[in-house]
Amino acid sequence: MNPIIRRAGFLGLALVASLLAFRVDEPDLSAVFARINEEVLQRGRAYQTLNEATSTIGHRLTGSPNGTRAEQYAHDLLRSYGLDVKFVPFEVEAWSRDTVTLSVGPPKSDNLRVIPVVSLAHSPVKATLQGDIVDAGNGLESDFEAVKDQVKGRIALVNIGISPPNPALKNLHRSEKTALAIRYGAAGIIIVNQVKNNVLLTGTASVTGKLIPIPAVCISLESGAIIREWMKEEKTLAARIEMSNFSRKIRARNVVATLRGSDLPKEKILIGGHLDSWDLATGAIDNGIGSFAILDIARTFGVLQLKPRRTIEFVMFMGEEQGLLGSEALIRQLVKDKSIGRVRYMVNLDMANNPVGFNACGREEMVPFFREVGEKIKAVDPAFANVNANRSGLHSDHQGFMLEGVPVTMPSGSLSADVLGCYHADCDRFNLVNQEHLNNTVRFTAMMLYALADADQIPARKLDNPATRDFLVKQGLQNELEIGGDWRW
Ligand SMILES: [Zn+2]
Repeated sequence: MNPIIRRAGFLGLALVASLLAFRVDEPDLSAVFARINEEVLQRGRAYQTLNEATSTIGHRLTGSPNGTRAEQYAHDLLRSYGLDVKFVPFEVEAWSRDTVTLSVGPPKSDNLRVIPVVSLAHSPVKATLQGDIVDAGNGLESDFEAVKDQVKGRIALVNIGISPPNPALKNLHRSEKTALAIRYGAAGIIIVNQVKNNVLLTGTASVTGKLIPIPAVCISLESGAIIREWMKEEKTLAARIEMSNFSRKIRARNVVATLRGSDLPKEKILIGGHLDSWDLATGAIDNGIGSFAILDIARTFGVLQLKPRRTIEFVMFMGEEQGLLGSEALIRQLVKDKSIGRVRYMVNLDMANNPVGFNACGREEMVPFFREVGEKIKAVDPAFANVNANRSGLHSDHQGFMLEGVPVTMPSGSLSADVLGCYHADCDRFNLVNQEHLNNTVRFTAMMLYALADADQIPARKLDNPATRDFLVKQGLQNELEIGGDWRW
């Protein structure tokens, strides 16, 4: 039992005695944790199922036939674990790629070089562009300011990171660099990746999730170096970009499995992660390791017949990569039918790996809870360091819940640099997955999930509208939310 959440010391002795008597049958948290631990270590299936899904389905792009197959796969797997499963469909406008080419050479010459390239999401549906390249360095405001007289009507070439590394400079997201390019009048933008070995990266180039007016593409680190070398020899170098993309209504389905609470069934803990991926590889890391960990947490609860007090919803979100489409659709529905208040906690797993703690995401009142439950997890396995962050951020499926005042958390872990180099890239494949780390995500998160679902009291409550605004301001998120068009105050 958790002393924080089951404290009754101030009550009269008689009442304490009666409460204790009432709890005789309740399983002790540590005993449940030990069972979860053994089940996952002995029979965890996250690694095998992720291997099967990535090799039989491939990528899991929302709105594509692959995406539909992935939804069905998750649905059937959850059903095979004995859970009550349903599809929750939604229809949205979503971007997807068709074709793109990039060639570079001196203006008006036949000496053209074809450069391997991918389109960044929310680029125009059709674009044919020819123009001189202007090197805008790291693509920060100061970089664009330095070339403001040349970049207008031309094609900006920028690094995705800060090169060479400089801790004094704060990097911007690729979408923010694109927004600057648009503001400075560029007709297109070529973003140079920072990972070695010809890795290409995708993701959105739009800060709002709406289509942008100029084509945005990504090239490899090596191609960027070749172009810059060539620019030194030739006075000017021109690029030709031709692309076509789709932006159309798609139908997709979130998958929701429910485990009904034994005592407080109306209150629920929602544990979710995005099942969808980009289409350049199989998204084994982003977000195979998060979503398949959740599927195996669901299996573990099913096999062990765990019956915590609150209802648990295991949710596979689609559409995260194109702009949190699935979680936002679900939240709109929860707000509309006035059941958002029933969500007592949202646990998000997005590329969660090998957790060492749980991020309280700015809810100070939860820090003791995570620390005390964490101590019990650590007692089961000292590999869990119980180091709990307390800082919130944006850009994954917890965002919409946080904006509704729902407390959110996520396991905090880490991925090695070579794995992170494949983020959104054509190398995000199953060979990057570490089975031991994946099982750690499953067992430690299952333990924390149980503790939340079975707690007598959860210290954090849903914030009302003004308190949510104050919370977001205090967390320093107002500016970023305004840029993304998500600030409603
Ligand atoms: Zn992700």
